[in-house]
Amino acid sequence: RKFTAAAASMQRQEESGEDIVIVGAGLAGLAAALGLHRKGVRSVVLESSPSLRASGFAFATWPNAFRALDALGVGDQIRKLHLHIEGLRVMSASTGEIAKEVDFRDEGPHETCRVTRDLLLRALEEELPAGTIRYSSKIVSIHDQDGAAKILHLADGSTLRAKVLIGCDGVNSVVAKWLGLPKPSHSGRLATRGLAHYPDGHGFQPEFLQFIGHGFRFGFVPCDGTRIYWFYTWSPSQNASADKGVDVEGAAKMKQHVLARPRSSKVPAGALEVVERSHMSDASAAPLRFRSPLSLLFASISKGNVCVAGDALHPMTPDLGQGGCSALEDGVILARCLGDAVLGAEAGTEEERIESGLREYAGMRRWRSVQLVGAAYMVGFVQQSDNAVVSFLREKVLAGALARSLLKMADYDCGTL
Ligand SMILES: Cc1cc2nc3c(=O)[nH]c(=O)nc-3n(C[C@H](O)[C@H](O)[C@H](O)COP(=O)(O)OP(=O)(O)OC[C@H]3O[C@@H](n4cnc5c(N)ncnc54)[C@H](O)[C@@H]3O)c2cc1C
Repeated sequence: RKFTAAAASMQRQEESGEDIVIVGAGLAGLAAALGLHRKGVRSVVLESSPSLRASGFAFATWPNAFRALDALGVGDQIRKLHLHIEGLRVMSASTGEIAKEVDFRDEGPHETCRVTRDLLLRALEEELPAGTIRYSSKIVSIHDQDGAAKILHLADGSTLRAKVLIGCDGVNSVVAKWLGLPKPSHSGRLATRGLAHYPDGHGFQPEFLQFIGHGFRFGFVPCDGTRIYWFYTWSPSQNASADKGVDVEGAAKMKQHVLARPRSSKVPAGALEVVERSHMSDASAAPLRFRSPLSLLFASISKGNVCVAGDALHPMTPDLGQGGCSALEDGVILARCLGDAVLGAEAGTEEERIESGLREYAGMRRWRSVQLVGAAYMVGFVQQSDNAVVSFLREKVLAGALARSLLKMADYDCGTL
């Protein structure tokens, strides 16, 4: 009798249903929702946070991201608010010498900005019909219902039936787990980042400056005339005294930790000042995780009416600045494949068309994901290493190849909707 009562109560709760449910209102989720909306296809986005997640993080927004933003119809409003980055300078932290300089203006049309995450998300959110995003809606588990529908169980005890389920729920994706994707691996590296404010102007060139080697990677880039975004990635070593007993759980201590290694290397004082005067957006260090490229070669990116996008699919180390940009690519391609399937240009039942649309999306993203995750890992490993042989090769041979890899990965066109 107990079982029957529970089943009846579940039946009542499962009354609500949606055709296309996207989990996660990050870049991938909002890009997919907006792409579908532009094609005239309705979706809902379930987001665990109570509101658009505010953070001061700034993304390197490379040409591939601008192409995706243009396809979604929001590129120009982002462009006009930001400083265009004209080049990249990579300096050796051990010698203080320039390892590689690239002038983006010599590379053909090439636009790159630093855009805050909030601004990007808001630009996408504002174009969506009211009510598309349902905040405070955390998915805790997924179950198959008879036929193709998926029953989503939310943290508040409610359930929702979904005809199509798109997981854009980040690195700890519940949907990726349901698809059987392996857990992301730890790279053994940590990262933190911040934003420095210069109310009277910072005076730095519009270029991306990076210091590499010595076991860390430190870089900064102007967002606009008054704000500089910086990041610092490092490998905690058991022996180095700088890492022993460092309590990275406080903003002030984190700042001291970030400054310790660059101070003892050839990073100039002007560059250190960017950290000194910054407001730390992160008081703790984030472990950098990635999905093994080998596992991505064979992973189920889609299964029936379920698929994943963004970090849920291809978490990567941040060394190419491509995680968010490629999440936007995913969103556009997914909206195109799924939108066309729903709108019924091909033969077959709707269910068949959706399955084939998601398979097409998965096919287009598999190799791109493998390349991005693999290249980001290699760039990070080589740039950060303090191994003598790797350092020698990096400074004499590899610096150009690494910079070329960065630009090549950024020169991707996801096409239109
Ligand atoms: C140090 C660092 C620097 C970086 N720099 C760059 C850069 O310069 N350029 C760049 O392009 N990328 C960069 N990235 C990568 C970028 O941050 C991510 O790749 C990008 O944010 C992924 O977007 P997403 O939408 O896939 O996932 P997320 O932004 O993680 O969004 C996932 C959303 O899903 C929600 N969610 C999670 N679980 C659930 C659930 N169970 N139910 C409902 N909602 C859920 C979350 O609240 C979140 O809003 C960097 C990353 C790091 C760590």
